[in-house]
Amino acid sequence: MTSTIDFRSDTVTRPDDVMRQAMAKAEVGDNVLDGDPTIGALEQRAAKVLGMPAALWTPTGTMANLIALSLHLQRGDRFLAPRGSHVITDELGSAAWLAGGMPEPLEHDAGPGRPTPDTLSAAIGIPRGPYYALRTPLLCLENTHNSAGGAITPPEEHAQLVAVAKEAGLTVHLDGARIWHAAVALGIPPAALTVGVDTVSACFSKGLGAPVGSVVAGSREFIERARRMRQMLGGGVRQGGVLAAAGLVALDRIGDLAEAHENATRLAAGFAEHGWEVNTPETNIVQVTAPDLVGRLAWLAELGIQVLPSAGRIRFVLHRDLSAADVEETLLRIKTGG
Ligand SMILES: *Cc1c(COP(=O)(O)O)cnc(C)c1O
Repeated sequence: MTSTIDFRSDTVTRPDDVMRQAMAKAEVGDNVLDGDPTIGALEQRAAKVLGMPAALWTPTGTMANLIALSLHLQRGDRFLAPRGSHVITDELGSAAWLAGGMPEPLEHDAGPGRPTPDTLSAAIGIPRGPYYALRTPLLCLENTHNSAGGAITPPEEHAQLVAVAKEAGLTVHLDGARIWHAAVALGIPPAALTVGVDTVSACFSKGLGAPVGSVVAGSREFIERARRMRQMLGGGVRQGGVLAAAGLVALDRIGDLAEAHENATRLAAGFAEHGWEVNTPETNIVQVTAPDLVGRLAWLAELGIQVLPSAGRIRFVLHRDLSAADVEETLLRIKTGG
């Protein structure tokens, strides 16, 4: 039968030969005892790319977010995040169970993935109430916003949201798992999208081709606390340089994301021509709305097209292991299939 085409996520990419060579040759040390030079190099470079003073390697983006939220929240706090944020819907409630914060979702009334400053301001309410009042010390943004379809918050809107949060004394964490995608789509450096935030997380394993690895960045003081929290969570790996080497190669490839964005645009255009209800992709995520979600998913599976449901829609994620030819093949199967 036909080969499968894998649109489930941009995490399905496999490291290529160049990346594997870099991993094989990585200089390593015990990163818990006295440091691994390649992890150190990646942390320094990631901090620079993200425009932050320091960074800490983590095995996953989920751990990076959990470290940040654990250090920003105390049990009984509330935090604000756009509805459908990964920290709310895709981390098994760890923001509440482990970091101790109750999430309050913000509506996307400025556009996909983006609350307006007024909505944020209203949600914050009166910052300092009496001892028995709910406290809201944290805003957690997400750029790009995954479940809103890889939606970008542009720098001006980001700045307005950060300003409202800061004015009210909130700390701001940015879940930038795909901050690279937003930066490439806007033609600006990733650091232009972290302005004013206290901490940011980002993934080397999303679209850039690394098999594993993320980072959380912030002040030096934050990173020293984060290092202890990572250890507590079981993330103190030893000769992790073999993994960090993949992250260094990944950072060389940020520009390549433009191709995945073009492929997403082409795929969405093809779906629209086919009469499907589809988003206008801003980055690498295409979302299709289907009246019979389960039926449509089963039909795609029969055609050898692998996808996942997300936020009540069907999500197609473009990535470096899918070519323009794969997009055309997908559209052909959909046109002639069934
Ligand atoms: C994937 C993702 C994460 C978590 O990354 P993992 O490495 O899979 O744990 C966090 N936030 C967003 C927005 C994501 O898309």
